[in-house]
Amino acid sequence: MTNTRNEPHAATSTTTPATVRAFAASSPTSGLAATTIRRRAPLPNDVQIDILYCGICHSDLHQARNEWVNAMPTTYPCVPGHEIVGRVAKVGRDVKKHKEGDLVAVGCMVASCGTCPGCRDGQEQFCDGPATFTYNAPDVHLGGVTYGGYSESIVVDERFVLRVSPKLEPAAAAPLVCAGITTYSPLRHWNVRKGQKVGIVGLGGLGHMGVKFAHAFGARTVVITTSAHKAQDAARLGADEVIVSKNAAEMQKHAGSFDFILDTVSAVHDLNALFQLLKKDGTLTIVGAPGEPVPVGVFDLIFRRRRFAGSLIGGIKETQEMLDFCAEHGITADVEVLPVQKVNEAYERLVKGDVKYRFVLDMAALKSGGKR
Ligand code: NAP
Ligand code: ZN
Repeated sequence: MTNTRNEPHAATSTTTPATVRAFAASSPTSGLAATTIRRRAPLPNDVQIDILYCGICHSDLHQARNEWVNAMPTTYPCVPGHEIVGRVAKVGRDVKKHKEGDLVAVGCMVASCGTCPGCRDGQEQFCDGPATFTYNAPDVHLGGVTYGGYSESIVVDERFVLRVSPKLEPAAAAPLVCAGITTYSPLRHWNVRKGQKVGIVGLGGLGHMGVKFAHAFGARTVVITTSAHKAQDAARLGADEVIVSKNAAEMQKHAGSFDFILDTVSAVHDLNALFQLLKKDGTLTIVGAPGEPVPVGVFDLIFRRRRFAGSLIGGIKETQEMLDFCAEHGITADVEVLPVQKVNEAYERLVKGDVKYRFVLDMAALKSGGKR
């Protein structure tokens, strides 16, 4: 059901796929290692991109280690990576939006049916197809599964390729197409604005972008963290206040005071303690995706008619809008750039919370064997 527009081309394409270098996990416990994968030759609507940088999202780690075994089991080998920035190397004959040499990005999706209500609303992430995710989704062109951005190049339908302003630093822009849009979209959808008190739970890759956006939208922005040592960074990123969630007295002081809370936590945690922070009719939206169920006690919801919601990345139109907003307001991620060969070290540090605030892999290092 995915990518119907391209299927006829795929069936008739006689051009040989290219072999490119990549980093892949071969099992949940293998870590990632250098390998080669195939990329299709560009079809008429395709853009071939030389990848410069790819961010490391906690979703990459969840999937490389098969931590979402019940919801989205991993097919191996798995080449993660959905925070891709690169330069257009080649375009198919019908491509209109992009040309050779353009700075572009690819986020979490590479195809969708284009006709269902979700797609028609510009919310391809909710495609009934379903949407084809950038990695670990069925690949209608080459068979097997899609492979992500921990690789030297990628070929993507132009509809899923985003323009990146030259005003944005490429490595720091890469995380915008997942961490950025995943926080921007719910903050916009729930109309976060001046005069509101908004909580961002978890100061990691997503959380630090959430702080920047909530602050840019004019809300009183409060970071709710387990890590007291992040307070100074939180203020620098735009937070007006910090609550250390392990401190019951601090949490009590803020009970019933938040209009909106965005929860970006990657592990099972106490949701009820967070519900108690909401006002009557306040909303907690979760974007963090722990592999295990998170218990919900209903009383904290029903007593103040509080709402509990979820959100998934954002559509292509909104992702472009977010990138343009970032270019206009000088917003990028705070990144630590590492050669792709250090990906396993980066994963270990991500699990320990030792990242300020997003690792980005330098893919040029793939070509030079890490000698850059
Ligand atoms: P990350 O950089 O590791 O940040 C997660 C943060 O959660 C940590 O920095 C930490 O913040 C907090 N945390 C971690 N373990 C915790 C625990 N046991 N209890 C309480 N807090 C804890 O991860 P990320 O890349 O931002 O991703 C966050 C989650 O969002 C992941 O599950 C990822 O898969 C998911 N995600 C969802 C979408 C979507 O569309 N819904 C898109 C992308 C990612 P503090 O130190 O401040 O407490
Ligand atoms: Zn992600």
